[in-house]
Amino acid sequence: MTESLTWSGGTIPVTRSKRKTVALHVRDGAPELRAPWHLNETDLKRFLKDRETWLTKALDSQAEKQSQKPDFSQQEHCPLMDEHLTLTLQLSARSHWHRVQNRLILGAPVLDKPHVHHVLADFYKTQAQYTLFNKTRDRVKTEGWEHRLTDVRLRRTKTKWGHCTATGRIQYNWLIMLAPERIVDYLVAHETAHLLHPHHRSPFWAEVERLHPSWQADRLWLHEHGHRLWL
Ligand SMILES: [Zn+2]
Repeated sequence: MTESLTWSGGTIPVTRSKRKTVALHVRDGAPELRAPWHLNETDLKRFLKDRETWLTKALDSQAEKQSQKPDFSQQEHCPLMDEHLTLTLQLSARSHWHRVQNRLILGAPVLDKPHVHHVLADFYKTQAQYTLFNKTRDRVKTEGWEHRLTDVRLRRTKTKWGHCTATGRIQYNWLIMLAPERIVDYLVAHETAHLLHPHHRSPFWAEVERLHPSWQADRLWLHEHGHRLWL
């Protein structure tokens, strides 16, 4: 049987393990308590009681972020870096998209959010493949770092926008294509700077500063608005 605790906001599942301390997590709008085997229900309830205010705030803020995620099946435009494309949705047996100038025509058998977002994901991935690969190649070429870059890949991840391995493989989250171009450029500068500095210490940030002087504002933007870049 799954163990759970009740609080004013509902029930919280409890996961027991060999850990030494209790931890309260909120993920995807749902709380979870991780606890060591030796603590009983009274201990856990006391722990939770002290954190009720924090938990309520955390759940509210996640719910608000969730409500800010776009539903493009209900929108007339979609962003592509600094462009605002006009969305035209059409019923079609086969899912597809094509772009005519500033219009993005999107076909799907059902025009609801899951279907529309599925086709849009393909559109953004294709744009990312072109844009992020080119921007990265241009950057390493200008800097004379071609020998350091081994591969560029796209991956959708929940928490990270980019990653650069010690072997010179850069990975981007293609959802960044929904952000303004200066944010995309910041991400490219950030990951390519890792080709030289595989850490986040000051020499790394000095390199980012040189490559992309507005990095601080753009990093902050990503921190504050990143959750809206979603399909
Ligand atoms: Zn980094």
